Parts: sequence; C-alpha cells; structure tokens
Amino acid sequence: MGEAEASTRREFIEKGIVGAIAAATTITVVKATGSSLVGSARAQTIPPDAKYYHLFPDHTEMQKRYAMVIDLRRCIGCRACTVACKSENNVPEGVFRTWVKIVEKGQYPIVSHLFMPRLCNQCDNPPCVEVCPVKATYKRGDGLVLIDYDLCIGCGYCIQACPYDMRFLNPVRKTAEKCTFCVQRVDAGQPPACAATCVGRAINFGDLNDPTSEVYQLVQKNPVHTIKPELGTEPFVYYIGLDEGTEFRSAEVD
Ligand code: SF4
Ligand code: SF4
Repeated sequence: MGEAEASTRREFIEKGIVGAIAAATTITVVKATGSSLVGSARAQTIPPDAKYYHLFPDHTEMQKRYAMVIDLRRCIGCRACTVACKSENNVPEGVFRTWVKIVEKGQYPIVSHLFMPRLCNQCDNPPCVEVCPVKATYKRGDGLVLIDYDLCIGCGYCIQACPYDMRFLNPVRKTAEKCTFCVQRVDAGQPPACAATCVGRAINFGDLNDPTSEVYQLVQKNPVHTIKPELGTEPFVYYIGLDEGTEFRSAEVD
C-alpha cells in the first residue's frame, strides 16, 4: 500500500470513528432528554474494574479468570445448550449466542464427525474491545468480555473485528450482542445456562486460576486446543478432542 493510499485510509477510519462518537453523543443526548437515569445506569453497568485493550493484566495476575473447557468426546450434538442459552438470555429469533457446529475430521476413507459447541471465546486479547469507538465493549477483571447495551451505538465495528464471527447485531435492541458466559448467572454463583444444561457434561465452566476447579483440572490432565491460536487473541474457551486431524482447526472451523 502506498503512503498516499495509507494516509487516505487512515483519514477515512479516523473520520468514521469521529462520526461514530458524534452519533453516540447524539444518542446519549436523546436518551438523556427522555430520562435523567442514563448517567447512573452507565455507572452501574460498567464495573470499576473494567479494563480496556491496552490495560489488560496478564491472566495469571488476575484474582479470577473464568474459562470454559469443552470436551468434544462427550458432546452428542443434542443442542440443549443452544436452547438453554436462547431461553436464559432472551435471544431473538434468527440469531444465536451459541450453536453446535458439525465438523468433519480426518481424510477419506477414515473420516468422522465432531459436534462442536461454538461461542464467544472471552479472549485474553480481544480485538472486539479495541475497536469500539464508545467503549461499550469492555473486559472485566475476571476476564469476561461484555457489552454495555446503553452505550452501544450498533456501529458493528466489533462484529467486523471478531475473527471468530461470534458477534451479531440484535435485531430488536439494535446493539451488538454475543455470549457473556451468562454473566447474570455467574454473578449469582451459577454456571452458564449451557454448562448447567449439557446432558453429556461436555461443557465445563469455572475459574482457571483456581487449582481446585474442574476447568483447571481438565486443562492439566488433557491436551487442549483453542481456535485459531495463531491470531494471538488467546481464547479462554478450550477444547478437548480437537487434537487429531488438526488441519480443520484453522481451515474449516469458522
Ligand atoms: Fe471478542 Fe470475538 Fe474474542 Fe469474543 S471471540 S472476545 S467477540 S474477539
Ligand atoms: Fe462498540 Fe460494537 Fe456497539 Fe459499535 S457495535 S458501539 S463497536 S459495542
């Protein structure tokens, strides 16, 4: 890319961000006119330990670091997790926070299928957070990557930035949306709905910094893989059983 072209592109992106911020300001003003609660709602929704892209501590320095370990050997593809998630999080028709992908493994004539639950990876270095022009997307001190729906202007930058296609625009609320590990349940001391519902106990959730937790034990005792590790996003959704026929991990799993 030439210098002039790079400069034009940079200007375009900068103008876009300025425009998005201006739009956010407009929306906030409109909301503020309708209700004086916007400021206090924001203060309540963004916790004081929220961290933004360049401020993230290493996960080993965090008091807690929530993670999921999905044992593909135990998943039977029943999709109870998808249904539980829809119900728990009131996800509108036609969109999903989690789903089960059918993946082919191996090469002809030795081929098998895997059922692979997919959801936001709660990345340690989440590119979706960095691009948000209004800081609606943030990462909590326990590693959860969340969205403040009052701040989100639905610009879709984060949807484009997620290399796993885990974000979408909520057609009702018109904001970005994705899996939150069921933050409302986690904060109440409950596991995410998908983990609680999984009949095969394939989905395991917990604090990876706690050596007594099931997720810690599973990671210690089994070979685990993450999706597209070469991107440096450092996903905190680990898979057991993704260790053979590794070709598809980057090429066919989207
Ligand atoms: Fe963000 Fe996508 Fe990573 Fe989730 S999977 S934290 S949406 S980059
Ligand atoms: Fe931020 Fe994504 Fe909402 Fe845009 S759509 S404001 S990037 S959370």
